[in-house]
Amino acid sequence: MHNHPSVLGCRIDPLSMAEALDRVESFIEQADPNGSSHIITLNAEIAYQAYYDPALRDLINRAALVTPDGIGIVWGARQLGIDVPERVTGIDLMERICQRASSRGWKIYLLGAEPGIAEEAGRKLQQKYPGLLVAGVHHGYFQPDEEQEIVADIQKTAPQVLFVGLGAPRQEWWIDQHKDQLKVPVCIGVGGSLDVISGHKQRAPGWAIKLNLEWLYRLITEPSRIKRQLVLPLFVGLIIKSRFRGPA
Ligand code: UDP
Repeated sequence: MHNHPSVLGCRIDPLSMAEALDRVESFIEQADPNGSSHIITLNAEIAYQAYYDPALRDLINRAALVTPDGIGIVWGARQLGIDVPERVTGIDLMERICQRASSRGWKIYLLGAEPGIAEEAGRKLQQKYPGLLVAGVHHGYFQPDEEQEIVADIQKTAPQVLFVGLGAPRQEWWIDQHKDQLKVPVCIGVGGSLDVISGHKQRAPGWAIKLNLEWLYRLITEPSRIKRQLVLPLFVGLIIKSRFRGPA
């Protein structure tokens, strides 16, 4: 179970985007009828939280695939000698899965974001990837007593891939809690991707993504994220400690 490289105790799969996508395909092709493969795109903020939260760490280590989302975690992994080929972000992986889904006939379900956004994201994805089947959508502002209805809708529409955009790590807990009941072959948390895909929020310009400055763009456009980004220097400190003293 524990042959995977890890960053601050969290599993990380050092795969390229193309390899991660092939892994997704194999999860769908060889799906266990009673199970579900949980994919986590891990960033430095969540790895930092997990360092102090054993339950979150266990959840991450139970996932079927953990990709390095964000330059912080890529840097940290490389510092620890893990040969990470590239960032595999939630939104990029989601786009690539949808592209492949349209040629393979997989159905997707979109759960999350404010009312109307998931529908809009579904329409945009279908325009971009003709033939893509959207099994269903639901917004992410539901009450606990509405959850069973959502689970029933997902079961009824039987998608191959469930994208959950409730923010991290809430979406990871939601998937973990419901995946045995859902039996969707692949479940993946995608943060604010539905806002971006629907056109309600803008992603950083391509040049900023290439220069690994996406975090700076998000900080400038959403200054309230400062609190979350303040953990980054602390994450760097833990990585350096772990590098010199061995895994903590
Ligand atoms: N969200 C939601 N339900 C909630 C709280 C948040 O669906 O109760 C959505 C929110 O509308 C946004 C996403 O979760 O689309 C969080 O986006 P963010 O970029 O903050 O994700 P993170 O960086 O936390 O992964």
